[in-house]
Amino acid sequence: MLEEEVPRRLDEEDHALRPRSFDEFIGQDAIRANLRDYIGAAKRRGEPLDHILFSGMPGLGKTTLAHLVAYELDAELRITSGPVLERAGDLAGILTNLHRGSILFIDEIHRMPRSVEEYLYSAMEDFQIDIVIDQGPSARSVRLDLERFTVIGATTREGLLSSPLRARFGVLERLEPYSAVELGSVLHRSARLLEIGLDDDAAMTIAKRSRGTPRVANRFLRRIRDFADVGDKDRIDFETADRGLERLGVDERGLGSLDRKILQFLAQHGGGPVGLKTLAIAAGEEPGTLEEVYEPFLIREGWMLKTPRGRCLTEAAFDYLGIERPRGWDASVRGQGSLF
Ligand code: ADP
Repeated sequence: MLEEEVPRRLDEEDHALRPRSFDEFIGQDAIRANLRDYIGAAKRRGEPLDHILFSGMPGLGKTTLAHLVAYELDAELRITSGPVLERAGDLAGILTNLHRGSILFIDEIHRMPRSVEEYLYSAMEDFQIDIVIDQGPSARSVRLDLERFTVIGATTREGLLSSPLRARFGVLERLEPYSAVELGSVLHRSARLLEIGLDDDAAMTIAKRSRGTPRVANRFLRRIRDFADVGDKDRIDFETADRGLERLGVDERGLGSLDRKILQFLAQHGGGPVGLKTLAIAAGEEPGTLEEVYEPFLIREGWMLKTPRGRCLTEAAFDYLGIERPRGWDASVRGQGSLF
C-alpha cells in the first residue's frame, strides 16, 4: 500500500520506531482528534480528503501523521519532496499516475520551485493539468483530467509558503513541541520496541533534554542504549542516562555544543545584535538550519531573542555562560537600537 516515490534521506531508525496507528501516536491531541473527524467524514461521504498542510519543526511527526492518515483511509501513499520536484514535468508524471483517493505527500513543500508550485495549483483546485505534447512547431498543450487525490504537504517554514499555495489547503495543522511528560511516553514506547529497560527517572531526564522533539529523544535513547549495552546493562537507569547525555554533549538544560557555540559567539559580540548570516558562519551551519532547528529552541527556552536588528542574548543566557552582561542590558531594547 505504501510506496516510496523517490529515494528519501534513508532513515531506517525513524522508520522502526514510527507509530503505526493514531492510538500509538503520542501527544498533539487536538490535531489527532481533528484528523480523525475529517477522515471519518470523508469516509462517510465516500469522498477524498481535503488537502492538508502540516507545519512544525523537523522531527515532530509530520511524516508519521501522513502515513497514519493514509493508513486510516486505506489509501495509496505517494511520497516526494519539494527539492526533488525540479521541473513541472516531474510533478506531472506523478500526478497522472495517482488513483482516486490517493495521497501525495510532499515533504519540504516550501522548497518546491515556483514553476512547479504554480503547476500544482490547478491540480489541487480543479484536478486538471495542462501538459505539452510533441516538440517544435507541432508542440501543443493538452488539458488532462486527474483522479481526485489529496495532497499532504509538510513544511518546517510555514512563513516561506506563498499565499496562493497555502490557500489551496483546506486543513492547516501546526505541530507544537512536546512536553517532557509526552516525550517520556515516547521514550518508554521506543524502549519497549528496542527491547531495553528504561527507568522512569531516566526517561524523564532524557525527555527534558530532547528539545521537545520525538526524533531527538529517540536518537538519544539509541545512543544511550549503546552505552548501556557496552557496559553490560539491560536497563537504562538514571545514572546511565545522565552520563550518556553528558557524553553526547547535551548539558542539564538540554543545550548541545552548537547551541553553546551560538550563545558564546553572541556573548563575545556584546550580546548582539548579530545578523543570521554572521551567526551561521560562526556556528558553521546553514542559515536555514539555524533558523529552522536551533533558533526556535533557543528562543523558546529564553536564551535568545530575535529583534529587528538581529539576534540578541537574554540576561538568562549571560548568567548561564557565566559572563557578565553589559550595564543596563536589555536585549529587546538593544535590538531596537534605542539604548546604545
Ligand atoms: P517530521 O516529518 O516532522 O520531521 P517524523 O514524522 O519523521 O517527523 O518523526 C520522526 C520520528 O519521531 C518518527 O519516526 C517517530 O519515531 C517519532 N515520532 C514523531 N512523532 C511521534 C509521536 N507523536 N509519538 C511517537 N513517536 C513519534
